[in-house]
Amino acid sequence: MGRLQDKVALVTGAASIPGLGSATALRFGEEGAMVYVTDVDLGGAEKVAGAIRDRGGRAKALPHDVTSEADWDRVMATIDVAEGRLDVLVNNAGIAVLRPIEELTAADWALQHEVNLTSVFHGAKRAVIAMRRSGTGGSIVNISSVAGLMGVPGCGAYAASKGGVRLFTKVVAIENAKHRIRCNSVHPGMILTNMQAVAEEENALNYDATLAMIPMGFMGDPADIANMNLFLASDEARYVTGAEFVVDGGMTAV
Ligand code: NAD
Repeated sequence: MGRLQDKVALVTGAASIPGLGSATALRFGEEGAMVYVTDVDLGGAEKVAGAIRDRGGRAKALPHDVTSEADWDRVMATIDVAEGRLDVLVNNAGIAVLRPIEELTAADWALQHEVNLTSVFHGAKRAVIAMRRSGTGGSIVNISSVAGLMGVPGCGAYAASKGGVRLFTKVVAIENAKHRIRCNSVHPGMILTNMQAVAEEENALNYDATLAMIPMGFMGDPADIANMNLFLASDEARYVTGAEFVVDGGMTAV
């Protein structure tokens, strides 16, 4: 019996390999969930859904721009028609606009917040409505960042969006606790994904300095975040809501 046996889960931004969304979708598939793998990159999402099925799991890919309310409505309606309920939403899709404040434009700022923060509102609102309708509760996992907890140079817009995710999560948790709908934020440190590779290529962060800030001395693997998401999605976390979970090799403990 899997830890998510018979649960219906939606993971956004789950096409990128290596990425936190694809690792989460694969882990959920291994634990018995029906996984909806969504992304703007439909080809990538289909590969991840195919990999879940190849391993004996159940998954379907859907095109999904998390900034589009029409896309959210279509994705939720598709899941409702096929499954009749949604148990788990992982708001994972995100981008990193990494520029010092003097180089940040208002358009950068708006885009960063649209993709990383407003999307979480669109998703959480619809998930709460679907979960209340089914009456069996549910779990919403919002992917924030250590940059949502501490100041990181070059991350002004990114940190503001992720800090917003952190506090919005707590409000969703309190408003929905009586409905047994849990909502928690996960705060990854530096994890080896495509996002990190791009940031490194563009030299947007000082990597040697950032690595030196990690007490464990190395970057995390997407599976480290997937395992945290799995715990929060599962009934093992039935009494856990409104909380923030740091997975960062000790970075924020210093
Ligand atoms: P990634 O770039 O590897 O994957 C992000 C995925 O999101 C991609 O598949 C991309 O196509 C998708 N995406 C982007 N814009 C989208 C949109 N508008 N609609 C739907 N999908 C969209 O990044 P990742 O490192 O796996 O990051 C996943 C999440 O984790 C992000 O929210 C990121 O901010 C957060 N995070 C990552 C790290 C890290 O070190 N990698 C650290 C802290 C937080």
